[in-house]
Amino acid sequence: MQVPAQFQYEKATSVEHALELLGRYGEDSMVVAGGHSLIPMMKLRLAQPETLIDINGVGELSRIGVDRDAVTIGALVRHAELLDSPVIGEHFPILHDAERVIADPAVRNRGTVGGSLCQADPSEDLAAAFVALDGVALIQGPDGGREVRVREFFTGPYSTVLDQGELLVAVRVPIRSSASAYAKVERRSGDWAVASAGAALRLDDGHIAWVGIGLTAVGAPAFGAPTAEEYLMGAPATEELFEDAGTIAAEHCSPVADQRGPVDYKRHLAATLTTRVLRRAAARWRGRRNHEET
Ligand SMILES: Cc1cc2nc3c(=O)[nH]c(=O)nc-3n(C[C@H](O)[C@H](O)[C@H](O)COP(=O)(O)OP(=O)(O)OC[C@H]3O[C@@H](n4cnc5c(N)ncnc54)[C@H](O)[C@@H]3O)c2cc1C
Repeated sequence: MQVPAQFQYEKATSVEHALELLGRYGEDSMVVAGGHSLIPMMKLRLAQPETLIDINGVGELSRIGVDRDAVTIGALVRHAELLDSPVIGEHFPILHDAERVIADPAVRNRGTVGGSLCQADPSEDLAAAFVALDGVALIQGPDGGREVRVREFFTGPYSTVLDQGELLVAVRVPIRSSASAYAKVERRSGDWAVASAGAALRLDDGHIAWVGIGLTAVGAPAFGAPTAEEYLMGAPATEELFEDAGTIAAEHCSPVADQRGPVDYKRHLAATLTTRVLRRAAARWRGRRNHEET
């Protein structure tokens, strides 16, 4: 059985305390949240922090807060909590769609929103969902706080804008009166994606008034599809338009061949899934409007 190299353990009790510990132990320290990515990496010696800073006791990171304009999801909110949250289901069904297909209950009970985003795995489902929703990462560091759009948070595979000593504290998602959907193709239930896509949109008089698209596991730069979004803006929401947008999104992906499939197959999925989630989000939008009118 593989075991991690020896490390020192510190338990943070507040955000300030976590930042103080990160500052004290410097670049040889790492934060642990759910541990579902970090602990396996430590066992494989792909990560060897000398000090592990456990943030699981920081209650302020575990909240889902709602105000008039936005929902703020703490970095320590577990996948299962997101899936069970009625507020999330009401405003962002894309997150419920995504959570239903992330791993299994054991991973969902422990893995966190913040850990998922900070790990920046190219197959991460929540990354694509938050890009589609145009969420904002709330970051705290030794010099104060800063905000970064999730679509600018990822700088490459397993890499983010977070500097040493910084903590992701939450993701804020604007409530912009939109409908959304997420779809994933996996080899078997609970597996990582072969390809996934998410979309959020608002229609105005049958035209696209706002749209966000996110893709995962297909080499979309920073999980986004900005050219497809630009193509859609202002156009009438037809099946043909959604198919064209899927093709454009897929053209801007750079999938790699691996045990989950060849490049052409993944590109095909990127197009098909983008079209599917746009269609589904539009149907949800129209369904909601009809419901409100009756
Ligand atoms: C068997 C298995 C199957 C999985 N399947 C899927 C899947 O289908 N889809 C999917 O999207 N994910 C999947 N995952 C990943 C899962 O979503 C994990 O929750 C995620 O990888 C990491 O979250 P965590 O809380 O465990 O983070 P950790 O492992 O604790 O941390 C991951 C990284 O983020 C850093 N970090 C954590 N929190 C913060 C913070 N607040 N601020 C700064 N840095 C932080 C850590 O230092 C570390 O570098 C799977 C995982 C497993 C083990």
